[in-house]
Amino acid sequence: MNDPTAKPDSLLKAAIVRVTPFEQNCTLIWDEASKVGAVVDPGGDLDRIEQAIKQAGISIEKILLTHGHIDHAGGAEELRDKLGVKIEGPHKNDIILLEGLEKQGKHYGVEGVRNVTPDRWLAEGDRVTVAGHTFEIFHCPGHSPGSVVYFDRKQRFALVGDVLFRGSIGRTDFPYGDHEALISSIKTKLFPLGDDIAFICGHGPPGQFGPERLSNPFLV
Ligand SMILES: [Zn+2]
Ligand SMILES: [Zn+2]
Repeated sequence: MNDPTAKPDSLLKAAIVRVTPFEQNCTLIWDEASKVGAVVDPGGDLDRIEQAIKQAGISIEKILLTHGHIDHAGGAEELRDKLGVKIEGPHKNDIILLEGLEKQGKHYGVEGVRNVTPDRWLAEGDRVTVAGHTFEIFHCPGHSPGSVVYFDRKQRFALVGDVLFRGSIGRTDFPYGDHEALISSIKTKLFPLGDDIAFICGHGPPGQFGPERLSNPFLV
């Protein structure tokens, strides 16, 4: 029957669109069967994001943000307007970054950036759904105070933003960065989820938690 808690059996798919001068991995995720999905971190270059949406043949039901830096959130307000969807995330500790995006844009010489107020702030333990697939929210401060990680337990997959990279970790020399907090977020919240967890990060190639736990020079 019409069970709202039923999980789709089809797979969640992902595609990366490299955006902004910072080469940020804007990520499209969508359900293979329904072709409904979300845009994660539309930092800018909306024409390329819209082209990728068209190419994948999907319809977007929401925008997700991992944190408030310009390369991740700089195009979110404009895309929300264009698509008529809501923005979920990050944690509200990034409000100061999201309200300063226009200023960040001027500082870095990036045009068309607008400040963002999400429709929903996320906190540790919250759940976000994309086309019926559930993501658990982990608040992972350090790179920014409001960074969140989206975890799909069923598909063993995480969207980690700039918390963790393949062979590296997020920078903590920006305002509001906290190196100790970042290391603790990764070691106490992410790695316990399992070595088999695949991740897409904000910059560079995707990876898996196991190899990072064993050989990432910032974490061993
Ligand atoms: Zn960042
Ligand atoms: Zn970034």
